[in-house]
Amino acid sequence: MAKKQTFADKASKKNKSHYCPVCEAEITHIRVVQANKRNGNWRFSNGPVGVCKCNEAEVYG
Ligand SMILES: [Zn+2]
Repeated sequence: MAKKQTFADKASKKNKSHYCPVCEAEITHIRVVQANKRNGNWRFSNGPVGVCKCNEAEVYG
């Protein structure tokens, strides 16, 4: 039988995804386009990226 998830479980889970466990800063989701060169070809991927203090310098340049 599957264990029933309590509201507290869901809340804590949501909270966990909202705050970085490393720097404990709030994670902001922004949409970015990233270009990665792979096998001589540029591949573009875009989508929501979680930004916190760990990678904000990297993401915002
Ligand atoms: Zn972080």
